[in-house]
Amino acid sequence: MNEEYIGKTCPYCKTAIQAGEEVRICGLCRMPHHLACWEENQGCTTFGCTEIQHDV
Ligand SMILES: [Zn+2]
Ligand SMILES: [Zn+2]
Repeated sequence: MNEEYIGKTCPYCKTAIQAGEEVRICGLCRMPHHLACWEENQGCTTFGCTEIQHDV
């Protein structure tokens, strides 16, 4: 599950996503975030992307 995102950098905490961590993929920019980071920011943290709490 989500193995293709392992090693990608979460744009919110600037930390690489590790195996076994929960990941939330932005429906607009496809940027992977840690689930906790997504929830803390209440949406995508990518600059210029505005997917905020509405599911695609
Ligand atoms: Zn993160
Ligand atoms: Zn996004």
